Amino acid sequence: MSAPRLEIDLTKLQHNTGYLVEKLSTSGISVTGVTKAFLASPEIAKTLIESGVSALGDSRIENIEKMRHAGIVASMTLIRSPMMSQVARVVRYADISFNTEIDIIRNLSNCASKAGVTHGIVLMVEMGDLREGIMLGDIIETVYDVLSLPNIKLCGIGTNLACRSGVSPDERNMAELSDLADAIDARFGITLDTVSGGNSGNIEWALSGVNTGRINELRLGEALLLGREPLQRQAIDDLHTDAFTLVAEVIESKIKPSRPWGKLEQNAFGEQSSLSEDDFDIAQTILAIGLQDTDLTGLRAPTGIEIIGGSSDHLIVNSGSRLPIGCEIRFQPNYSALVRAMTSPFVEKVVYSHDLNVEHGKPSDS
Ligand SMILES: *Cc1c(COP(=O)(O)O)cnc(C)c1O
Repeated sequence: MSAPRLEIDLTKLQHNTGYLVEKLSTSGISVTGVTKAFLASPEIAKTLIESGVSALGDSRIENIEKMRHAGIVASMTLIRSPMMSQVARVVRYADISFNTEIDIIRNLSNCASKAGVTHGIVLMVEMGDLREGIMLGDIIETVYDVLSLPNIKLCGIGTNLACRSGVSPDERNMAELSDLADAIDARFGITLDTVSGGNSGNIEWALSGVNTGRINELRLGEALLLGREPLQRQAIDDLHTDAFTLVAEVIESKIKPSRPWGKLEQNAFGEQSSLSEDDFDIAQTILAIGLQDTDLTGLRAPTGIEIIGGSSDHLIVNSGSRLPIGCEIRFQPNYSALVRAMTSPFVEKVVYSHDLNVEHGKPSDS
């Protein structure tokens, strides 16, 4: 099997997804499985659906198209505001899109009318994280405009926290979103189907036993994939944090000094090299994986291996002793490392499952 490769354990993903779907359902919250971090791999998307997510969401229309073409049957939501240049594709391939700009929604309405379909809209509300969202004071007017547009169905409202600024979802801001849904319903005599509270950053709030009010949907990526909440990157109880493993191969392993010599300028990261006072010999091992393949700072090395450097094509570790050339080291990627590895054409993806009937490739030495 070639390296570098990302080994993807569908059985662990199935467990994580099934577990959270079940837990959140007791609060009346359904899960939209977010597929962007794994480039909407149809096999993984299928696993999420089989494990109980009620819909799929992605920030890129290309990924949604890919899943449609692969024959995935599910409600699909574009969770980033559509680009004006893509509205026709959005109407064609996504059932619902998240929106904050009335000009885009008007265009979605035009395209949907021409195509003879109805497109669903979730209006995103700004609640402090300062990424996408309509300011609270402008919501009623936007709802009013949206309700007048042909071939558009207002499905609900939503918010996204814990991303740009790391503002954490709590009882106060979630109650505010919930109250806003009530206010819109009362003002317009409608019932919003969806009140989408957020992403994996909402897990702790949702499972804390507080009244979750009108919030009836969360959009989950990281929690399902890596078993962690993104506020403090704590492992979520009872979930697997190792469903993804990044495997790289040793191409050099030598005893070398810990200190470089010669005149020091910037390194490959644009950092000025700072000389440590330490000067002793170490077992320096080079792996054939680099910044072009993943986020090297987002890799967790196995015990006894310490990451000490890297460049576009090399990862350098202190391995304690010399390692055989050609042997492999297995790393746990964080979200950033995972996304980059999924995106790199140089990283092979090996999807497998413990159910022998659905084995697609056998990981080496797990
Ligand atoms: C990426 C994204 C999510 C999923 O985030 P996770 O932290 O991976 O759960 C949810 N909502 C929106 C709008 C996103 O862009």
